[in-house]
Amino acid sequence: MSFVRFEQVSLSYTEGGARAIEDVSLDIREGEFVAVVGPSGCGKSTMMKLVSGLKPPSAGYVYVNGREVGGPLSIVGMAFQAANLLPWRTTLQNVMLPMEIVEPYRSTLRSKRMEYEEMARAALKRVGLAGFEDKFPWELSGGMQQRASICRALIHKPRLLMLDEPFGALDAFTREELWCMLRDLWQQQPFTVVLVTHDLREAVFLADTVYVMSKRPGRILVRREIDLPRP
Ligand code: ADP
Ligand code: ADP
Repeated sequence: MSFVRFEQVSLSYTEGGARAIEDVSLDIREGEFVAVVGPSGCGKSTMMKLVSGLKPPSAGYVYVNGREVGGPLSIVGMAFQAANLLPWRTTLQNVMLPMEIVEPYRSTLRSKRMEYEEMARAALKRVGLAGFEDKFPWELSGGMQQRASICRALIHKPRLLMLDEPFGALDAFTREELWCMLRDLWQQQPFTVVLVTHDLREAVFLADTVYVMSKRPGRILVRREIDLPRP
């Protein structure tokens, strides 16, 4: 049973216009770490929008967890190249944001709120941000902001994590630190990952399966399973 399934999916942003992606079919099983690589403009972000329900396909079908995607999904966590932390909120308050939005965590009970805050503090510890809970985004380095962003994406325990170039703006050293952090998180608490990147080395380091897309129209050129010993 696949967890994410594309059946001959195409998408045009304008009625009858050029296709951003064309005839894309793929199957992702639950717990799999998938990377999608390709040049800028090949439709990687478009695929993310389709999986997360932000865009309907122009043709074909997108299924997540056995159901056709019909709108934004709450089982998805997302992070992007820009950390997009809210500047008026502390690290802890940023990480708790999904808990204020996603139903199971919405509670007016003070004891429940305290429990969720403890969960968020524990999660920040796991991404190496213990001690930075009360800092504001501008007081954090780029790498730390991205740690907080990934922490926020995972705080409501989504079954699917979508990452769009999350390490693209970081220096090479910080990037590799965050690769290791992400791999550790994924190994501790398995969730399905779709990582969009133009860095083939990153894809091969992190993913079980790499899809290579062609530019215009975006099609899948190659699907490769990576079977390397993990350090
Ligand atoms: P990537 O993420 O691989 O850089 P995108 O999915 O952003 O690629 O874009 C794929 C193609 O669709 C590109 O040709 C891009 O210009 C076009 N495109 C993306 N978003 C829109 C949009 N909102 N309206 C029109 N065209 C778009
Ligand atoms: P990336 O390469 O990181 O996907 P882009 O610079 O291609 O980023 O796109 C940034 C945003 O602009 C995306 O939300 C994309 O959907 C939108 N976009 C891209 N191309 C077009 C386009 N031709 N017309 C309208 N919006 C677009």
